[in-house]
Amino acid sequence: MIDFEFTVVGGGVIGLSIAKSLSSENKKVLLLEKNNTFGQENSSRNSGVIHAGLYYIKNSLKEKLCIQGRHYLYKYIKDRGIKYNKCGKIIVASSLDEIQKLKFIKKNAERLAIELVELDKKNLKEMEPDLNGSAGLFSRETGIVDVHQLMANFLIDVENNGGTIVFNTEFSEGFINQNSIDFIVNNQKNDVFKTKVLINCSGLNSYRVAKSIKNFQFKIPKIRFVKGNYMKLEGDSPFSRLIYPIPQKDGLGIHSTICLSGETHFGPDTEQLKSVNFDVSRDLENKFKKSISKYWSKIKDRNLVPDYSGIRTKIVGNDFCIQNNKINQNISLINLFGIESPGLTSSIAIGEFVKNLVIENK
Ligand SMILES: Cc1cc2nc3c(=O)[nH]c(=O)nc-3n(C[C@H](O)[C@H](O)[C@H](O)COP(=O)(O)OP(=O)(O)OC[C@H]3O[C@@H](n4cnc5c(N)ncnc54)[C@H](O)[C@@H]3O)c2cc1C
Repeated sequence: MIDFEFTVVGGGVIGLSIAKSLSSENKKVLLLEKNNTFGQENSSRNSGVIHAGLYYIKNSLKEKLCIQGRHYLYKYIKDRGIKYNKCGKIIVASSLDEIQKLKFIKKNAERLAIELVELDKKNLKEMEPDLNGSAGLFSRETGIVDVHQLMANFLIDVENNGGTIVFNTEFSEGFINQNSIDFIVNNQKNDVFKTKVLINCSGLNSYRVAKSIKNFQFKIPKIRFVKGNYMKLEGDSPFSRLIYPIPQKDGLGIHSTICLSGETHFGPDTEQLKSVNFDVSRDLENKFKKSISKYWSKIKDRNLVPDYSGIRTKIVGNDFCIQNNKINQNISLINLFGIESPGLTSSIAIGEFVKNLVIENK
């Protein structure tokens, strides 16, 4: 006897989107979340930016799912009346070397048919009078979204489709059989549940959940945690668009994001971590000011206060890893590893991607 056809581990934006896609096919879906509500981890600890899809490795899953996901996401949030602002983004260069890098970004955007407008110093000043820079690129497709409202809508879809979502319920361990994947939650060894397909999208815990699944050999990639701290600007916002420096190793650089309430946040930086910790230190102010001053000199007269942080899960190859371990015709274990940025933008596309993997499996 099977209890659920599909069991999704993790109630972040990815798990909710996958559960929404699967439940829309009239399948019996269960979603387990260890916290007392949805989206308490990385899904509410990011820049909330809908990315155009400019920077990723050619033909990677990140590139494909970000561009597809952006189209799906704008349509979904318009249909649902979810708050968003397609404010656009300026990528700003301050040195000759950086201007050269803008050219690569522009060329890549042409390959992908993503519109980017070239800006000279005068254009930059007209668009954002406080911005310092020699040249830039403007992406109209970039915007921000209310991530909490988005996740709440995914959750409503799952429930309206007849899916089950349970909070305060931690996946503890699993065992793969020929006719089911058996698992227990909250270490309750006497209550064993059976599912045909188990989907592990537990974010920072994905490798740990994968390790707890026994009786089948599969590859678990090495994960590197890279923290991204944010600081909030006190007072008025200097910009009406998102301002990004040239991308750096492990991140897109400390950028300026406006949120839907009008506040300005700067971040994320990159900090290598040994273990999960979301604290943001006040000591970061100098480091942030030094980095921001390259494109906004007036930061020296303003105050930054510690805000929040998120943690990137980096794997070798720097792409999303969506692993389909097919045990037989009916039974599968799907693991999602390295779902860092642009995971939010890609969320609906990832949901559809996983649905096509497992429905095709049947
Ligand atoms: C600093 C930063 C900035 C970012 N900015 C952007 C951006 O601007 N735009 C963009 O597109 N993307 C961005 N991202 C990426 C985006 O935030 C992530 O890709 C996305 O939130 C990942 O969602 P998730 O559901 O996989 O993970 P999470 O949101 O972490 O959800 C995983 C869930 O699994 C649960 N869980 C864990 N273990 C268990 C268990 N054993 N049993 C049950 N539940 C469990 C957790 O409690 C959690 O709720 C950013 C990421 C970071 C770190």
